[in-house]
Amino acid sequence: MAANKKLLILPGDYVGPEVMDQVKRVIRWMESRRAVRFEVDERPFGGASCDAYGTPLSDETLAMAKAADAVLMGAVGGPKYNDLPRDLRPEAGLLRLRKEMDLFANLRPAVTFDALLEASTLKPEVVKGLDLLIVRELTSGIYFGQPRGIETMPGGGRRAVDTQAYTESEIRRVAEVAFELARTRRNKLLSVDKENVMATGVLWREVVTALHREKFSDVELEHMYADNCAMQLVRNPRQFDVIVTDNLFGDILSDCASMLTGSLGMLPSASLGAPDATGRRLAVYEPVHGSAPDIAGKNMANPLAAVLSFSMLLRYSFGLADEASLIEKATQSILNGGVRTADIMSAGMAKVSTNVMVDVLLKELDKSAA
Ligand code: NAD
Repeated sequence: MAANKKLLILPGDYVGPEVMDQVKRVIRWMESRRAVRFEVDERPFGGASCDAYGTPLSDETLAMAKAADAVLMGAVGGPKYNDLPRDLRPEAGLLRLRKEMDLFANLRPAVTFDALLEASTLKPEVVKGLDLLIVRELTSGIYFGQPRGIETMPGGGRRAVDTQAYTESEIRRVAEVAFELARTRRNKLLSVDKENVMATGVLWREVVTALHREKFSDVELEHMYADNCAMQLVRNPRQFDVIVTDNLFGDILSDCASMLTGSLGMLPSASLGAPDATGRRLAVYEPVHGSAPDIAGKNMANPLAAVLSFSMLLRYSFGLADEASLIEKATQSILNGGVRTADIMSAGMAKVSTNVMVDVLLKELDKSAA
C-alpha cells in the first residue's frame, strides 16, 4: 500500500463544487480498487471563502495548500461576487494562491478524443491523435514587469507602458520543467520565443540552449518564433510534443491549442512550483473552464475537465501514471460509447447529466480494473 498522499480540495463556486463532487467519487473509487490512499481535506475558496471568512483565500487555507502534496481546485467567481472590491473578489484569491505558492510553470495539455473530433473546427485528419503539452511561464514576463502603467505626456496625449523582463533563473526553471516532462513523453521539446525582435527572446534562447547542452542533451530540442508556432498549431499541430514559452506567448498559444480539441468542458491544467530538497513540488490542478454560472445548479456541467485534472495530479504529483492512464482510457471509452454532457452533445449521442457521466465512467473503470 502506497503511503498516504495529502490532497487539498478547493471546490470554489457555482459549478466548481458540482464537478468536484464527481471527482471525489473517482477518488473513492481509486481508494477502493487500487493500492492508493489519499488524505483528503477540503476548504472553502474564492466566493465560498468570502461568504465564510470575508476573504477569498484565508491564511489557514493557504497554509494547508502549501502543506499538501497537491491541490485540486474547481473554479471560482460569479455574479454574486462581482460587486466586491477588486482585492476581495474570488479571482484575487486565485492570483494570491498562485503567487504565494510560486507556481511558475503552467501545464496545458491539448489532447483530442477520437469520439469528439467533430467538435474541433479543424479537419479531423489534422487533429486526430493530437497529444501536445504547452508549458507556459506563469509568474514573470510582461504581465508583471516594471515599469507599467498609463501616463500623460508633457505635450498632452497619453502613453501606455508594459515591460517584458525575464531573468536567467526564471527562464531556466521553467525550461527545466519542460525538458523533464518531455522525457516522460515523446522526448521532444520546442522552445518558442521572438529572438529575432526581442531581447528577452535572445536570452530565452541562450538559456534554453545552454540548459539543453548541460543537462538534457538526450531530449530533441528545437526553437521556433511565436508567430510561426501559432501558424503551425493550426496547420499541423501533431508535429509537437512539449512546447515551452513565456507568459504572454503561452497565454495565447495555449488557448489556441486548447481550441484544437473543441471543448472547454474537457480541458484540464496544472500549475507547478519549484521542487524542494526532497523533490516535492507545490502544485495546483484545475479545469481550464470557469465557474459557469449560467449552468450552475442544473446538473449539466461536464465533469470531465475536473476528472482529467485529477488524473494529471496522479501522474505529475503522485507518480501514479498507471492510475492516471486508467482514467484517461476510461474517458476515451465512454465517449466512444456515445455518452455526452450538453456542451459536447451531437446528433445520435446520449445526453447525460453531470453525475450520470461519472456513473458511466466508474462502471467503465470497474470493467478495466476487473
Ligand atoms: P466559463 O468558463 O465559466 O464559461 C464559459 C462558457 O462555457 C459558459 O457558457 C459555460 O456554461 C460553459 N462551460 C464552462 N465550463 C463548463 C463545463 N464544465 N461544462 C459545460 N459547459 C461549461 O467562463 P465565464 O463565463 O467567462 O466566467 C464565469 C466566471 O468564472 C467568472 O466569474 C470568471 O471570472 C470565472 N472564471 C474562473 C476561472 C477559474 O476559476 N480558474 C477561470 C475562468 C473564469
